[in-house]
Amino acid sequence: MNKDLQEILKGIVGGKNALLAPEEILVYESDGVSLIKGKADAVLLPGSPEEVMQIVKLANQHQIPFVARGAGTGLSGGCSAQQGGWIISTARLDKILEIDTVNRTARVQPGVVNAALSETLYPYGYQFAPDPSSQSACTLGGNFAENSGGPHCLKYGMTSPHILGAKIIMPNGELVSLGGKVPGNTGYDLLGLMVGSEGTLGIAVEFTVKLTPLPEAVETFLAVFPTIEKASQTVSEIIASGITPAALEMLDKLTLEVVEKFVHAGYPQNAGAALLIELDGVQLQIVEESEWVKKICQRNGVLSLEKAEEEEHRKKLWLGRKSAFGAFGRVTHDFFVMDGVVPPSKLPVIMKKIEEISVKYQVQIANVFHAGDGNLHPNILFDIRDKEMVKRVLSAGEEILEECVSLGGAVSGEHGIGVEKQNLMPLMFTEVDLNTMQKVHDFFNPQNLCNPGKIFPTGKTCGEALPGRYLSVASWI
Ligand SMILES: Cc1cc2nc3c(=O)[nH]c(=O)nc-3n(C[C@H](O)[C@H](O)[C@H](O)COP(=O)(O)OP(=O)(O)OC[C@H]3O[C@@H](n4cnc5c(N)ncnc54)[C@H](O)[C@@H]3O)c2cc1C
Repeated sequence: MNKDLQEILKGIVGGKNALLAPEEILVYESDGVSLIKGKADAVLLPGSPEEVMQIVKLANQHQIPFVARGAGTGLSGGCSAQQGGWIISTARLDKILEIDTVNRTARVQPGVVNAALSETLYPYGYQFAPDPSSQSACTLGGNFAENSGGPHCLKYGMTSPHILGAKIIMPNGELVSLGGKVPGNTGYDLLGLMVGSEGTLGIAVEFTVKLTPLPEAVETFLAVFPTIEKASQTVSEIIASGITPAALEMLDKLTLEVVEKFVHAGYPQNAGAALLIELDGVQLQIVEESEWVKKICQRNGVLSLEKAEEEEHRKKLWLGRKSAFGAFGRVTHDFFVMDGVVPPSKLPVIMKKIEEISVKYQVQIANVFHAGDGNLHPNILFDIRDKEMVKRVLSAGEEILEECVSLGGAVSGEHGIGVEKQNLMPLMFTEVDLNTMQKVHDFFNPQNLCNPGKIFPTGKTCGEALPGRYLSVASWI
């Protein structure tokens, strides 16, 4: 980048908020997927929506690609600078602008950390319901762009229904305001389109979010099963019974062992799998639902069903679940977090398939996931220095996602497509489907400067994927 442009950028954001040295930029080269890397020419930390607008206008003037970045915890390569250019970090846009408990809304900037918002809301008796397991780090901007889920999204829904309004700097630098404090039904649902668009249709600079009242009562159980099939069947039957737990999470044998050594959550060793089941609502309803859940667990041969008797115990059980990814880091050089989804009734089938795939490709797979939604996270453990192993990991991953689709599911439950799964899109969509999506993209982002190289397959035509699909990622290592 030429010196003049560097000086203009420094003038917009301030010298210390324009990172231009390669060693400063290095840490921004990937998100949570270490296999996917992109080299930016600059990382910019604007302090206001106006500064974001100026940067985007400048990028348009000079035809420079740009990509928004929250905390970089994404798990599909969404915020990596695939075609170079500028990373626009929202780290300084981290203010909670207004809490309106009368209308149950808050106005926040995109760099606000998910857990920080809920912690601020607790004294008022509210929370921001979507709770990705990365919530202590990930930002509202990332949640919005990925339409993120989390353990409690089974009952409360993913991010989309919790976003009532957004201010977005469009790819050409114009500011668009969508929605507000009330859910509206006025014309095209552009807000709905923006949520989950993975930062390819603009950069959000403010949200109006919905506040969810804290439940009157909560009960949390750890149900331990001899096999993962029995645990999967239990999930399927709980969902079929009509009960909607607040959360219904699965941890397999390997995960239980690794996590226990790390955080001592009181998880069993040598069990086939465990379910973390949380019920919330009014006390009377919970008592009745608990009885149903117990009966279903017993019918499926539960080995033990432990109820968290006090808040400290409950927190400990959750700490285990939320520390799982960190715990994997202690036993493996790298791990690949997969994200597929199947109808809950197909959980027993897919878990068996994953086991077979693990044997076929000789890779260790640890499963910890949002079971109630059928949203799988098989974590494939590997060593990035072993190229042959990386190929097996990617083939195993691809086969798992193919199985998800063939069982009526999808290639992503919550982490998005990004770069990781772009060449798997034709598994789910026809060329006409993809071309229709491409037209929407091109209308809002005609120069393809805003987060280029994401979501759409990299084949010659839109519906044509490169051979190797996942393996095409490996060539970038
Ligand atoms: C340990 C761990 C656990 C996780 N658990 C979950 C989980 O339970 N559920 C889940 O859904 N995900 C989970 N994730 C994935 C990830 O945390 C989410 O996708 C999260 O929403 C990303 O937020 P971020 O701030 O890190 O975004 P980033 O990774 O920085 O960016 C993600 C995408 O959002 C775009 N973006 C960021 N800010 C903006 C903005 N202001 N405007 C427009 N686009 C923007 C980026 O361009 C990129 O495409 C987990 C990740 C980790 C590492």
